[in-house]
Amino acid sequence: MGDEGGAGRVLAGCGAYLGGVLDPRVIRVDLPESLAGYTWAFSGRKHTSVGCIGPFGCDGDWRSVTEAREALLARHAGALTIRSRFHCLLACAPPDAPSRPLSGSNWAVIGDAAGLVDPITGAGLLHAVRSGIVAAESLLLGDLRQFSARWWETPEGRHILAASRACEAALRLAPVAGPWPMHELIKESYGSL
Ligand SMILES: Cc1cc2nc3c(=O)[nH]c(=O)nc-3n(C[C@H](O)[C@H](O)[C@H](O)COP(=O)(O)OP(=O)(O)OC[C@H]3O[C@@H](n4cnc5c(N)ncnc54)[C@H](O)[C@@H]3O)c2cc1C
Repeated sequence: MGDEGGAGRVLAGCGAYLGGVLDPRVIRVDLPESLAGYTWAFSGRKHTSVGCIGPFGCDGDWRSVTEAREALLARHAGALTIRSRFHCLLACAPPDAPSRPLSGSNWAVIGDAAGLVDPITGAGLLHAVRSGIVAAESLLLGDLRQFSARWWETPEGRHILAASRACEAALRLAPVAGPWPMHELIKESYGSL
């Protein structure tokens, strides 16, 4: 994302794929006291995904997310079999991202490569698809350089910037307030939890 301006938030995630299913009608999201992030558990037809995600650089970095994952796995250990564990880092665009171009006359970055990830939830699927559409539209209009400005004007682009500002504010409060400001943002993002 370039050398100038503030660095974007990086989210650390880890989880596991399990053989077997929980109640397939339920997507479970929890807000552990030890993590300025959340855990999830949901099942497909044969498998279950459990994991957790939180801001990298907080709560002891990998230790907190790894401990949250192991607690999740212990909770489900009796019913489900661990197939694989995973770790991931998600880089999110900073609040001043529009000052740096996402495209030039013959190039563009979209989706995760451009940091178009919600720094509160880690969601990026919609942003990846939408930014691809906006880039393609800019190309069809004959000037790919327009993509950057057009993207940050979309509802999704504006959402990422608002989420980024809110996330930074919540994390500035973390040394005195703990994880609850981030938990409030997560609840707001997902609706009532
Ligand atoms: C565990 C986890 C859970 C997530 N859950 C959600 C969720 O519930 N909802 C949500 O909205 N988002 C979620 N996300 C985020 C979402 O997956 C990403 O934001 C989204 O997939 C980004 O799409 P993308 O096309 O930009 O990148 P990617 O999906 O990463 O696609 C990039 C592709 O490029 C390929 N590639 C890389 N380098 C090269 C190369 N040199 N040559 C050729 N190919 C290459 C990669 O193999 C990959 O297939 C989650 C992410 C993780 C890690």
